[in-house]
Amino acid sequence: MMLHKHDVLIIGAGLAGLRVAIELAETYDTAILSKVHPLRSHSVAAQGGINASLGEDDSWEQHAFDTVKGSDYLADQDVVEILAKEAPRAVIENERWGTAFSRTDDGRIAQRPFGGAGYPRTCYAADRTGHNLLHTTFEQALRVGVKFYNEWFATSLVRDGNHVCGLTALEIASGDVYGFVGKAVVIATGGFGRVYSHSTNAVINTGDGCALALRVGAPLKDMEFVQFHPTTLFGSSILISEAARGEGGYLINARGERFMSKYAPKNMELAPRDIVARAIRTEIDEGRGSEDQYVHLDLRHLGKEKILERLPGIREISIDFAGVDPIHEPVPITPAQHYSMGGVHCDKHGMTPISGLYAVGEAACMSVHGANRLGGNSLLETLVFGRIVGQQIAENLRNAAEPSSERVDDEAFRIRQKLQELLLKERGESPSEIREVLGETMDRLVGIFRKESDLKAALSMIHHLKERFPNVSVGHVDRRFNYSLIRVLELENMLDLAEVITMGALKRRESRGAHWRLDYPERDDQKFLKHSLFTRIEDYVKTELIDVNLGMFEVKERTY
Ligand SMILES: Cc1cc2nc3c(=O)[nH]c(=O)nc-3n(C[C@H](O)[C@H](O)[C@H](O)COP(=O)(O)OP(=O)(O)OC[C@H]3O[C@@H](n4cnc5c(N)ncnc54)[C@H](O)[C@@H]3O)c2cc1C
Repeated sequence: MMLHKHDVLIIGAGLAGLRVAIELAETYDTAILSKVHPLRSHSVAAQGGINASLGEDDSWEQHAFDTVKGSDYLADQDVVEILAKEAPRAVIENERWGTAFSRTDDGRIAQRPFGGAGYPRTCYAADRTGHNLLHTTFEQALRVGVKFYNEWFATSLVRDGNHVCGLTALEIASGDVYGFVGKAVVIATGGFGRVYSHSTNAVINTGDGCALALRVGAPLKDMEFVQFHPTTLFGSSILISEAARGEGGYLINARGERFMSKYAPKNMELAPRDIVARAIRTEIDEGRGSEDQYVHLDLRHLGKEKILERLPGIREISIDFAGVDPIHEPVPITPAQHYSMGGVHCDKHGMTPISGLYAVGEAACMSVHGANRLGGNSLLETLVFGRIVGQQIAENLRNAAEPSSERVDDEAFRIRQKLQELLLKERGESPSEIREVLGETMDRLVGIFRKESDLKAALSMIHHLKERFPNVSVGHVDRRFNYSLIRVLELENMLDLAEVITMGALKRRESRGAHWRLDYPERDDQKFLKHSLFTRIEDYVKTELIDVNLGMFEVKERTY
């Protein structure tokens, strides 16, 4: 039997997975599997910062209010309360571990204004916050003795009745498939932005964990809520952090107008992302974009010194990828996919309806961001809830049943056969072509502005691609380091997720947060102040609506 055994198996070595592991590794045998080296997880790319109400006039209540309003009232308010209350602790903890936060003149952690926030509460390390946080957190995981399986690709979860008893994974270096037996399995696989072809996400962000959860019968939640970031570099879709607007950047259309005054007169460029992204797309669609394709982000008035000190990374990106130096020229930008508000349905302790299966970080939907995430809240979510989920697992492990090795071994056998068949198919459909059509379809038909006819067309295209998928040919038969095979497995996952995103968008006949329906432009609290839930039953996906946990903040109209 090719089996590994640990108490806890965590899929994903981004901030969320690492933080769970740190909480557990000193007491339990804890392993992390990651398809790339941990320091290449997408958390490393986070630029702008992490929110915490550290300021004297700020409070967790204000942070919670901004988050709930930003979510268009879809976030669960009990979960938001935890996020906001625990934020200062999470930031200070990382600071003590060694994260080099930028400082004020009197030595405190510096904070910048961010979209939708009533107070400058975003802590940052220049514009490389994720890089700093991930390195410190990884060091701590090494210190407490977490076992790492780096460059291992999780291929399925294994279920025994209503328990999860392990998973299967492919060792990329050898091409061998192993079973992993564990009492708890944590999905910390990050977002699924690459379902779209224009995305700020790393190429590895294909939502594998969410697809594995769906396949094993765990529900996904709120998948139709996809965040489009207002400012990505025109051409490459590389992120230009909200920090650029937080530091005072302007958005300018082809006529030289600061057009946000029409859309969010009070908050201007610092309205939440859903509103700014729609404003930019509207300017471009109505003919006020440059070359009908982009608008400009103007930083010149900030001055050279501030740009060099606070925004060195985005200056480099602008020079390297657009040949534009923001000190001297405005930067051409356009919105693109950025964040997945939806994910694996779980409670505030990360528990899914299947016992032993947990979710955390961007892969999870607790739901702390509702219909629209505020910038700076998702790095925070990974650290705050990573710790809480770790504590919950420790508690649950005390009376966890012995997991079934046989089940895991049988599943590993099945996956070996499946991969073998895939590799042996010499001729067939091209996976890269299917992937391209998928991304283009999602961009064009399931984007910022949606309508029924587009969504129906997208769904039928996705079904057509899913019919083609079983005939794909990997193209390379080698077992070792076969990245073509990995791309095919990711494609299978993305097709399943695209279907669910589109189904959710079609069924939600209202406009809320990042989900905008041209044919239903109003928010409809009567029918849709609800989370959507997607459960796969054999080949069919059941959808239902469940209640939102309301609480201290009354549901109101959202203006900025
Ligand atoms: C460019 C960019 C900038 C951002 N800036 C900010 C910001 O300033 N502030 C903020 O709050 N948020 C920001 N975000 C969002 C934030 O960075 C992410 O939501 C967060 O870091 C996600 O962390 P995570 O641990 O959930 O997942 P990730 O960091 O994405 O890690 C996922 C892990 O899962 C592993 N994995 C995935 N699939 C498999 C598989 N099949 N088998 C094995 N392992 C697998 C990967 O190897 C990886 O280790 C930004 C996002 C992007 C893309």
